[in-house]
Amino acid sequence: MRVPFLVVRTRSAAETTGLGDRIGRLLRPGELLLLTGDLGTGKTTFVRGLASGLGIDDRVRSPSFQIVRTHEGGRFPLVHVDLYRLGSAHEVGDLGLEELISPPAVAAVEWGEKASSIAGRDFLELEFSWSPEAIDVRTIRFLPAGRWRDRMGELGDAVRSWASGDPADASEGN
Ligand code: ADP
Ligand code: MG
Repeated sequence: MRVPFLVVRTRSAAETTGLGDRIGRLLRPGELLLLTGDLGTGKTTFVRGLASGLGIDDRVRSPSFQIVRTHEGGRFPLVHVDLYRLGSAHEVGDLGLEELISPPAVAAVEWGEKASSIAGRDFLELEFSWSPEAIDVRTIRFLPAGRWRDRMGELGDAVRSWASGDPADASEGN
């Protein structure tokens, strides 16, 4: 099991949107977020915040039936992908995501664990889970790969107000 660089907790959907907004403000062209975790843990809610942080006015919905939806009008286009309905890495490969997800666009991929065909590059995995604390509490673990590791200090500062106090936070600034 990988050790998260950072763990945060939200206590409402609005807090998760706020977290997404904060991270959306930090995104740079071409960056990739892989969102993992069970149905209902808040991935789409988070993407709604990302869009807002990028200055996008569109309403973000679950793209399950469409798989890919691109939102324009912000600092960069946001490519929102939902791989829930796809069965295999082979099917994911057929989507041609690598062409869609190229600078200046930034991408957020729900069920990102299925995106093995594109996960070879730099990405930040955000793992969403229910929390035993209360029904509206979610835990979000930050699992950076590649160049994202160098951004964990900056990200840690940005999301400090959501910090859970988990010992894994100690790696902040790493
Ligand atoms: P996913 O995309 O992971 O399937 P959604 O974002 O579509 O999840 O749904 C999350 C649901 O949980 C929404 O109905 C939202 O209102 C509710 N919710 C309750 N608490 C939270 C929280 N802390 N963060 C995100 N969503 C929450
Ligand atoms: Mg979703």
